[in-house]
Amino acid sequence: MELFETVTRMGHEQVLFCHNPEQNLKAIIAIHDASLGSAMGATRLWPYVSEADALRDVLRLSRGMTYKAACANIPVGGGKAVIIADPRAKTSELLRAYGRFVNSLNGRFITGQDVNLSPRDVREICRETKYVVGVSEKSGGPAPITACGVLLGIKAAVEFGLQKRLDELKIAIQGLGNVGSNLCKLLYEKGATLFVTDINSERTAEIKRLYGATVVEPDEIYTLDVDVFSPCALGATLNDSTIPLLKASIVAGAANNQLENEQLHSKLLKSKGIFYCPDYVINAGGLIDVYNEMIGYEEHKAFKQLNGIYDTLLEIFNIAKQQDITNFEAAQKLAEERIKKARLQKATKEH
Ligand code: NAD
Repeated sequence: MELFETVTRMGHEQVLFCHNPEQNLKAIIAIHDASLGSAMGATRLWPYVSEADALRDVLRLSRGMTYKAACANIPVGGGKAVIIADPRAKTSELLRAYGRFVNSLNGRFITGQDVNLSPRDVREICRETKYVVGVSEKSGGPAPITACGVLLGIKAAVEFGLQKRLDELKIAIQGLGNVGSNLCKLLYEKGATLFVTDINSERTAEIKRLYGATVVEPDEIYTLDVDVFSPCALGATLNDSTIPLLKASIVAGAANNQLENEQLHSKLLKSKGIFYCPDYVINAGGLIDVYNEMIGYEEHKAFKQLNGIYDTLLEIFNIAKQQDITNFEAAQKLAEERIKKARLQKATKEH
C-alpha cells in the first residue's frame, strides 16, 4: 500500500502508529477529519492477520466516522483506532499504554468501546486519559440507542420501498450481540417475525426463548425468504458470494462496513432490486449517544438527533431515486454537502 497516496485519496489528516515494546502494544489511530471538532471514533481490538489489514480497516472505519457524524448532524470529526492483538493477550498495562498515546493527542481524538473491548477495558484506558467517552457506570452503553436507530431505519426503508407495516414483516438478523439482541426485542414488541443466527449458540437460544425467533445456521441466514436482512455482526458480510443469495428486499442493520466493496456491492444490490440503508447513517445512534454524554446528556436533544436518522434516510432515498444513483452514493453526496456547509458556517463564525 502506498501510504501517502492512500491517505490523500481517502482524505485523512493524520495517522499515528503507536508502539510500546514493553507491553507489546501495536496500535494505529487514524484521524480522518478534525475540521469540525475533535475526531471521534471507538477503539477496536482485533488479531489482524497482517498490519496492512489493520491499516485498511482503521482508514476505512475512520472515514466512515466523518460521514456518520455529518449525516447525523453532529459537530465532530471522524477518527478510529485499532489495537493489533489477540483478545486473550489484553492486559491492563497494554490498555493503559494505549491510553497514554490517546492522551498525547490532547483531545484531537476522542475514543470509546468497540469490538473486543468491554466497558471495564475502557475504564482502564481512562486511567491515562480523559479523552474517552461511554465510561459512565450508569450508562447502559450505546447499543440500545443504536438498536433504536436501526429500527427507525428499517421503518423508513419499509415505508419508502415496501409499503408494509412492521407487524407484517419477516426479518433476518445476523449477530445477536449488544445491538442485535436489543434490535430483536424492539422488533418483537412491534410484532415482526424474527429469524436469527449467531456463532454463539447461547445467544441464539436466549433470543429464541425470549422472542420466539426461528434460529438458523450462520450460512443459511442470507438465503431466507424475508423482507429485511439485518447485518448486526461484523463487517464485509455482503460481498460477491453472499449478495446473490439474498431474497430480502431491504438490507438494514447495525454493522459497520457491511459492504466488502462499497462502490461495487452497492451497485450489485441495486441491480438486484435490493434497497440498502447505508450503514453509517442507520447505525449513528451510538455516536449520538456518546456525543450527548460528552456534552452533558439532555434526553430531548439526543432523541431529536436519533429521530433525524429516519428523516436523513428518507432524504437519501429520495436523492438516489431522483438521480438514479445508489443509496450509498446518495449518502456520500449528502454527507459531503453537509461537511462543506458546516465548514463554511464554522469559518464564518471564526471571522
Ligand atoms: P457484539 O460484539 O456485541 O456482537 C456481535 C455478534 O455477532 C456476536 O454475538 C458474535 O457472536 C456475532 N457474530 C460474529 N460473527 C458472526 C457470524 N459470522 N455470523 C453470525 N454471528 C456472528 O457487537 P455489537 O456491539 O452488537 O455491534 C455489532 C455491529 O454493529 C458491529 O459491526 C459494530 O461495529 C456495529 N456498531 C455497533 C454499535 C454499538 O453501539 N454497539 C454502534 C454502531 C455500530
